Amino acid sequence: MLTSLYINGKWVADATDSLDVINPATGEHVATVARAGEQETKAAVEAASEALLSWRKTPANERASYLKTLYTLMLDRQEELATCMTEEMGKPYAEAKGEVLYAASFIDWFAEEARRVYGRTIPSPKKEQRLQVIKQPVGVVAAITPWNFPAAMITRKLAPALAAGCTIVIKPASQTPLTALKIAKLCEEAGIPAGVVNVIPASSQAFTKVIMASEDVRKLTFTGSTEVGKELMKSAADTMKNVSFELGGHAPLIILDDADLNNAVDEAIASKFRNAGQTCICANRIYVQDGIYDAFVERFNDKVSELSVGNGMNDVDLGPLIDEDGYTKVTEHVEDARSKGASVFSGGKGYKDGGWFYMPTVLTDVTSDMRIMQEETFGPVAPIQRFTSDDEAIQLANHTPFGLAAYFFTESISRGTYLYEALDYGIIGWNSGVPSAAEAPLEG
Ligand code: NAP
Repeated sequence: MLTSLYINGKWVADATDSLDVINPATGEHVATVARAGEQETKAAVEAASEALLSWRKTPANERASYLKTLYTLMLDRQEELATCMTEEMGKPYAEAKGEVLYAASFIDWFAEEARRVYGRTIPSPKKEQRLQVIKQPVGVVAAITPWNFPAAMITRKLAPALAAGCTIVIKPASQTPLTALKIAKLCEEAGIPAGVVNVIPASSQAFTKVIMASEDVRKLTFTGSTEVGKELMKSAADTMKNVSFELGGHAPLIILDDADLNNAVDEAIASKFRNAGQTCICANRIYVQDGIYDAFVERFNDKVSELSVGNGMNDVDLGPLIDEDGYTKVTEHVEDARSKGASVFSGGKGYKDGGWFYMPTVLTDVTSDMRIMQEETFGPVAPIQRFTSDDEAIQLANHTPFGLAAYFFTESISRGTYLYEALDYGIIGWNSGVPSAAEAPLEG
C-alpha cells in the first residue's frame, strides 16, 4: 500500500507527521500515511517550480501523450482504484468503479484539449502594430480536494493543469489520501516528469501557510465547503493568486405536473441517494406540483424503501456516512424537520455498526423554515414540499444563497425553457438528475 508523500518523483516516507485512514463502514484501521508539514510542502512547491521551467515548454502533443497514457493506466486499474476508494471513503463498489471512469474522463478530455489552446490575432487600430493573444500556463497550481469524490476531484484539477503546461501540488482530504497516492503512482508509471505532479497528504494549516506565502504558486484550485473557501479566498488575495472554487450546494429538484413520472422518480433517486447523498450537486430539497404530488410521493417512497444500506463492498445501494460528524448533521436535520411538523414516510433513523449508517429517508409536510431546506445536509434524506404554480416553484428554488445546481422535470419545452432561464443556478439538469460531464463547465 502506498503511504508515502510523492514529491519530485520520489516517495518520501519520512515526514513531519502521520495520519490514520479509517474504513468508515467498519471503523477498522486501513493504513497510516505520511503527512506533510511546512517543510515537505515547501519541498513540493520547489519541485513544482523547478519542473515548470521545462514542462511549460514541452510541446502540447507531448503533454497530451502523457495524459493519454495516464488515462489508459487508470482504466486498466479501475478495480484496484475502486476497491481503495470504497475502503477509505465507503461508497458502494459499483459507484466507485463508476467514479474511476468519470475521473478518467477528465484526463481523456483534457488530453485532447491540450492541443487546442489557441491564441487570437486582433485587428490593430495602428498600421504599424499587430495585436496577438497567446495563452500561457499560469504557473504552479496548488490543489485542495475533498473526500466525497477521492479520484474525480483530483483528476478534474490535475488534467487541465498539466494540459495547459502547469505543474501541480495536490493536497487530498485527510480521510482519502490513499486514492490520491494511487493516482500519483499512475502519474509516475505514465512517465510524467519528476516534479510536474506532487501529491502530499498534508496538514491543511501547514499546506495553506506555505502555498499562500509562495509567489511561485500562481493558482489555487479548491473543492470543499463554502466556509473554508471563503477563508482561502481572503488569504489568496495577499499574493494575488488566481483562484477557482467549487463549494457547497443546496440543489432544488422540481417536478412539474406534466413530468414523465417514471423518469422523474428514477432520476430524483439517482440525484439524491448517489454517494449516500454526500454530493455537492445532489438534490437537497424536492418540490412537487399539486397534480402529480400523490403519485410521485407514493412511487418515490416505494423505490426508496427498496434501497439497501451497508458496507460498500457488499453490493449495497448506499454505504456509510463519512464519519460521526456527518451522521450527527443528518440526524439533526431530520429531528429539526420532525419537530417542526414534517412526517417521516420512510427511514428517519440511523445506526452504528462499525461505521455510521443512515437509512434512506423521505420526509413530507416539509416547510421552508426547516434547517434541511436551508443548509446542506450531505446525507440520504429527501424532503418533499408541495407547490401550486411554476412561479411559486421558481421562487422556492431561488430562495437560498446557493447557486451550484438545480433540476427540473417537465415534458413541456416552453415551461422548461421558462424555468431554465429563471433558476439562479450554474448547473441545471432538465429531466436528468446526474448532469456532470467532463465536456461541460462546472459553474456554481
Ligand atoms: P472541507 O472541510 O472544506 O474540506 C475540503 C478540503 O479542504 C480538505 O482537503 C480539507 O483538508 C481542506 N481544508 C479544510 N480546512 C481547511 C483550511 N482551513 N485551509 C485549507 N484547507 C482546508 O470540505 P469537506 O467536508 O471535505 O467536503 C465536503 C464539502 O465539499 C461540501 O460542502 C461539498 O458540497 C463540497 N464539494 C463541492 C464540490 C463542487 O464541485 N462544488 C464537489 C465536492 C464537494 P483536511 O481533510 O485535511 O481537513
